[in-house]
Amino acid sequence: MKHAVMTIDDIASKNTPAIVDYLVEKKIPTIMFAWGQRVEEYYDNALYALKNGIIVGNHSYSHPFFSKLSMEEAIEEIEKNEAILNKLYQDAGVERKYRPFRFPYGDKGGENKDALQEYFRKNGFDKVKDTQIPYAIWKEMGLDKDIDTFWTFDFAEWQIRPDSGVTFDDILARTREVNPELGKSLLTDEDGSHLLILHAHDETEELVPEYYRTLLDLLLDNGFVFDEPEFIRL
Ligand SMILES: [Zn+2]
Repeated sequence: MKHAVMTIDDIASKNTPAIVDYLVEKKIPTIMFAWGQRVEEYYDNALYALKNGIIVGNHSYSHPFFSKLSMEEAIEEIEKNEAILNKLYQDAGVERKYRPFRFPYGDKGGENKDALQEYFRKNGFDKVKDTQIPYAIWKEMGLDKDIDTFWTFDFAEWQIRPDSGVTFDDILARTREVNPELGKSLLTDEDGSHLLILHAHDETEELVPEYYRTLLDLLLDNGFVFDEPEFIRL
């Protein structure tokens, strides 16, 4: 069986409610990582996600490269968004049970990496359960020890832009490309267990309407089972 835990980054956006409706329709449990400035801009759409059973995690306030920040600035980015998310959960009338975090761009903070992991451990952040992920590279990279939420496969559909030369066909082809580290492609990973990442970008929606539906339907049609995210405290 092919398993996956679904994550979607960079909410809130204009398109967030439509994505949420799709996830509810297909019963795909999802963690959406919210960027504080965008929650402020599209507050009702972030509320809509929460009210429809999405777990909303922290993706910083202004989406910086954490390796370019001092430790003090990094914590401010995290905590400013924590306050926004606390209010969001309160306004939605939803109990905030879990506090996952994802670094923008997967940038774990450069020389502050260890100090940031220690900060997450001491301040109640939750690690998305990853013990089911079977790939050796996950442990080789130390991702099993990190509290923040990384991924095994990025659809990279955010690369579709008018001037990038990347098309939706390229993105679809990536799901069939063999990953040299895993020795198989996403769609042929028969006993795989993935942590997947998509992005809630309005720019992508404009160029490829309902891109998320096409990509996730492809996985469902290929036998993927989307698991409820679980959390562990390290
Ligand atoms: Zn992001």
